[in-house]
Amino acid sequence: MKIALSALLLLLLGDFVATFLYHVPEHVFGRFHTIVHHSPRRSFVCYAWLNRQPTALVFGFFGFFSYFLWVPLLWPLSAKGVLLGLCLAELHVIWRHQFSASYSTPAWMQRLCRLLCITTPERHWLHHQNANLAYGDIFTFYAVPAQHWLKLLRKLKKKLHYRLLA
Ligand SMILES: [Zn+2]
Ligand SMILES: [Zn+2]
Repeated sequence: MKIALSALLLLLLGDFVATFLYHVPEHVFGRFHTIVHHSPRRSFVCYAWLNRQPTALVFGFFGFFSYFLWVPLLWPLSAKGVLLGLCLAELHVIWRHQFSASYSTPAWMQRLCRLLCITTPERHWLHHQNANLAYGDIFTFYAVPAQHWLKLLRKLKKKLHYRLLA
């Protein structure tokens, strides 16, 4: 029970931080997530190496850090659960980026994911196509609040821009 709870908490809290403190702000104020992660290659390491931009690595690391941040906190609850959560998060990263034309999630799995509010590769592809849509790396219920957060941060950016010009 403790194993499942700490794995679930790691995924829930990790996705929360990744979505609201990294992913959405990156789409408004940043640039590396859009030019690296939303490109066909997606590798921050390749990008940093080829373009001699080591700072890109820092931004790549933030995504991972959103999940890793919870390790010390959840470790006392269940170390096995934390490791399980990290493995599941990594497996989900690999799975949700199955963008080849030949891939399609089986119908039963689509139903299960809808029931459990889990992002499928098809849904994540929507986000890669249009950065205004389908937020929530793992959980789809972060999408609606993320959309509001996106709008709010865009307004803030505009305000800051005008203030700087005035
Ligand atoms: Zn992605
Ligand atoms: Zn994105």
